[in-house]
This record gives sequence, C-alpha cells and structure tokens, in this order.
Amino acid sequence: MDSIVSAPNEFPLPEDVGRSSQIVELLLREKMLTDKQVDYAARVLSKIETPRPMLEVLKELNYIDDDKIKDTVRHSRVPMCIGSLLVELGYIPFEDVQRALKIQSEDINHKKLGEILLDRRLIDEHSLIEVLSLQMGFPQLEPEFSEIDPELFSKVNSRWYDKHDVIPIHKEDGGLVIAFADPLDRNDLEAVKQVFGDKFIAGIARKSSIKRAVRRCLTGASRQKISPSDENSIIKLVDDLLLAAIERDASDIHIEPMKETMRVRFRQDGVLIKFQEFQINILPALTNRVKVLCDVDITEKRRHQGGRFYFDYPGGQVDLRVSFYVTVHGEKIVMRLLNRKGVLINIEDVGLSQRMEDRFKEDALYMPSGVILITGPTGSGKTTTVYSCINHINTPETSIITAEEPVEYIIEGIAQCSINPRINLTFEETLRHIVRQDPDVIVIGEIRDNFSAEIAVQAALTGHKVLTTFHTEDSIGGLVRLLNMNIEAFLISSTVVSVMAQRLLRKICPICAVAYKPSPADLQRIGYAPGDITGAAFRKGHGCGQCQYTGYSGRIGIFELLILDEQVRNAIIDQKTSQEIRLISIESTGLVTLLEDGIVKAAAGLTTIDEILRSLPRLQKPRALPELRRLLEG
Ligand SMILES: [Zn+2]
Repeated sequence: MDSIVSAPNEFPLPEDVGRSSQIVELLLREKMLTDKQVDYAARVLSKIETPRPMLEVLKELNYIDDDKIKDTVRHSRVPMCIGSLLVELGYIPFEDVQRALKIQSEDINHKKLGEILLDRRLIDEHSLIEVLSLQMGFPQLEPEFSEIDPELFSKVNSRWYDKHDVIPIHKEDGGLVIAFADPLDRNDLEAVKQVFGDKFIAGIARKSSIKRAVRRCLTGASRQKISPSDENSIIKLVDDLLLAAIERDASDIHIEPMKETMRVRFRQDGVLIKFQEFQINILPALTNRVKVLCDVDITEKRRHQGGRFYFDYPGGQVDLRVSFYVTVHGEKIVMRLLNRKGVLINIEDVGLSQRMEDRFKEDALYMPSGVILITGPTGSGKTTTVYSCINHINTPETSIITAEEPVEYIIEGIAQCSINPRINLTFEETLRHIVRQDPDVIVIGEIRDNFSAEIAVQAALTGHKVLTTFHTEDSIGGLVRLLNMNIEAFLISSTVVSVMAQRLLRKICPICAVAYKPSPADLQRIGYAPGDITGAAFRKGHGCGQCQYTGYSGRIGIFELLILDEQVRNAIIDQKTSQEIRLISIESTGLVTLLEDGIVKAAAGLTTIDEILRSLPRLQKPRALPELRRLLEG
C-alpha cells in the first residue's frame, strides 16, 4: 500500500507523479474504496504492459464511478497537486507534469504548477477549468463586480488579493461562495479558511476574471451603495472608515483625492497601508460630513483648516484630530486617532533593556528634581513613554500636573490640561499658571520654543521634577538644541538629569518568523564585519495572513539613554561640539546609541536590519554585539 499512496497532505515528488494517486488516497480515507480493492487494482496494473492511471483501472473494475469521485473531491477540501490530477485523469502525460515540476522548483517567482502548465502551453485554460469543474464538480463561476458582496470583499486587503487568486462572492443558503482559480491549491485553501472559516462553496473561475473583479472592487468599492446625494450612506461610510481604523489599531486615516479616485489609507505600525479606493465624486459629501463633525466652516474649501471631534463606538471613545489640506484635486483629510487603547503601557513594557530600565528609574525618574527629556521625531513613541513614566510615579503622595497639546490619554489622579489656542488657552498662559498649582511633577507636552525651555529649567531649579519631550534626532542633539536656545550652559548642566532618545521599529511577526543569516553586505550597511555578530539570531517574517503579508506585527521601542555625569556636565559648560559630547558620553556614562540598541534587538530576532536602516541615525560605528550585550544586559 505505501508504495502506491503518498503520505497524507504531502505533494508527491516528481518521480512519484503518475504512480501515486492523490484521488485514490483520498477515496480510501473517505472510505469510498477499501484497501483490498486498491491492492487488487495495483496487482492488475502491475500485469498490464502500457502504464495506465490507477483511477481508470478502479473505474473499469466498477469499484468507483465518476459521480462518487466528484463528490468526494469536492467535499473533502483536501489540497491536491493539479499536475498529478491531470495525469490521473488522463489529460496530460506525466512527463509533461515532471517537466513543469522541474521548472517550478527552479522558478524564483514561486509560480503555481497550473500557471506553468498554462504558460508552457502544456494545457489550455479551458481544459484546466474543465478538469476542475466537470471532472471534479466545482461549479464554474464568472465573478461579476455587481454580485460581489462588498462586506465580504473588504474582510481582507489588496495585499491578500495580490497573493491569492481568490475572490469571495456572496452568501447563499449553502454557505459562502468563493471563486478560486485553483480550488485545490493548498495555500489559497488555507488562506481562505483562515479568513472566512471552513464553511464555503468553492467554485472555479478563470484567473483573469478573478483579477479583473478584484481590481474593480478595489477601485469602485461599494459604488452602488454610496451615492453622494444620499446623506445616510455618507454618514455610514464615515462611521465604517472610523471603525475599520479602530479595529486595525491605526494611528491615522488618510483620505486622499486623486485625479479619478479617492484613496483611503491607514497608518498601521507606522507605515501607510491602502485600505480602499472610491469614486472621486463622493469626496465633497464626505468632506462635508467630517467638517460637520469637527464643527468647522463647511463653505470654506480654499483654505487649510483643522478641527477635532469625539467618536463613540461600542468599545469606547476615540478623540480625532483632523486636518483639511487643500490640494489640486480637492481637500485631503487626515484624521489622527487619539486616546487609543495602546497608549498607556507600563514603563517595564516600553522595550527598555533591563539595565537601561534600572538606570532610567534610579538615576532619572526617582530623582527628586530635574529635567527629564524624551526626544525623537513625530511617531517615535515619545508620548507613550511619557505617559508610562507618569503612570509609574503617579502615587497619592505626588501632585502631577500637565500641559499637553492635546491630551492624548486621560490618567486618573493627575491634572491634565489640553492646550486650546482657539479659545486663547495658550501654552504660554498655561505654563505661567502651572507652577502656582503646587506641583511635584510638571509635564510639559513638548519644548517648542525658548519660553517653554526656560519654564522647564526654572521649574527644575526651584525643586520640581519636569518631564518633557523634544523634537531631536538623538540624545546629544537634545542637549545641543537646548544650548542653542539662549539658555545659560550652566543652567542646563545643573538641571537636566537625563535625555532619552527613542524610535519605534516594526516588530517581526511571530507567526511567520524564520531564522536568517544577514549577508556581509547587509552587515556592512550597519557598520559591521561578519565577526562582530557572534551569538546573533537574526530573523525575518516571510508574510502571513496574521500580519497582512508585511512580515511585521506591532512595534518595539529602541532607546538611547544619556544620564548626565560630571564629565558630560563639564563638556556642556565648556561648550564642546556635539561629536565631542557624544564621545565623552559613550566613554564615561556607558551610553549605548540608538543604532547599537537597534542592533541588539535585531540580533535577538525582534526586528530587522531593514528597519534599522530605515529609521535609526548612523552617527557612529557601532561596537561589536558581545560588548553591547554586556553593556545592556549586564
Ligand atoms: Zn506573519
């Protein structure tokens, strides 16, 4: 038996094609045939001179008929190799399939066997569909744009459709109808099961028809249902977009007019991902709706505007900060989602290495007074870190007060103020009042000018702990920018206790991560020689349904912590250059640079070298991995 039947769910090796039979194996498993019958057919086969498919012999022996075969294949949902099926059913000689399999094994684009057979004209599309529909009983479908249920279609994104030759059509009594180019393809079947569950009716359609329907759905999504003059459908569309963004934990929604279409993209894990495209004619009505929500002038279409609104949904409330920007094709709308769930996390979970976390707590957070600066560009996670710091030191004995623009997350027990220039509640005005509130800890959302820098330094001089953020590349950059703000060097050197620079890099998807060895060229790009990465375990995500085929899921913080010591303070007073201060910090304070922290995290399989190159400044040649690990892990 074992010589005839290949192992379950495993495609036969090329030399097995023609000898093994996937259908026979399946019929055995489904108890449509008995071992005895197959054994007998095998004996018959061994005695005849011209090789014939096993299935044919079984049919001639009247052990099975076409209808039973059809039913079993269609209902089993077992992936099969289309090539050997064609051989088993007598459509093509098995040498042809062998040839196609060889081409497939050398093909860098990982083409499907069916495609190779078609490309090489070893079979035509008509016969291929005939095999699958007539012989196997899969219904033949012609996916029409108008029949496709937009809700089903939007369960996955365009990247998914790029990977799979599949389109969901609609629900009917028997289940969900899904068109496949190859309903026996293992990857496509698995992907569909993951998204739509087990209960579906697989049909077959030409690949070109599927691709065309997908394209039309992506560009004209739900065109029938949304008409610019129907106010309710526009209201529902805006709600649906907001809900979809919340569900995906997106940080921003971009609604972008283009020449003929309106594109909607979400920023997820720091990267823009296309969500849907619509007809451009709904843009004015949609813009009006968002303007009404924000309470801004709906008649003004030629100037940039900004606004805010709250959106209530079953799981809570989000605060949206909206910007309308006039472009040549109309107003582009960007909505930032604030007060999201992900914002408040423990300081222990932001991604600091153990040694850095201990030092940051002991030598910065727990110091009775002084300025603690968190620096980085927009979207680097500064605000999240500030919130986790506040949350960590928020005790009944401490008075904490904030001036933020805007408040992004409300924490019980602290006095948070959202700056609102529209009613003249300015930053300056607020900071003037803040010290009179008898605070222990003052949180200034961001140092943006001379005035706020002075307030921070003055407050620290009078015994307060000040937490604030700054928009600079790295930690030394933070010090240097303060020095350039006309604040006396000795005031800076005596008040700033620490500067922490940070970035967020995308984390490798744990589901599809695989080990990988970076090439010498990759290493060279981060300033390394192959000998520098002793003990590293780099990984890469190859993409799966869980991570929307990006290979990444979630983000991880990368940090550079500078705790000012005597040498650094002297270097500030002596007005040394930033490069000199950096070298002193590395030598005397044990500073590990952003690049180095990133390398350690990539070498631990958490993020990739690509992410490092995309986001981290490369100012200094990094030290070898074993030394960095000693510095960070102790
Ligand atoms: Zn994945």
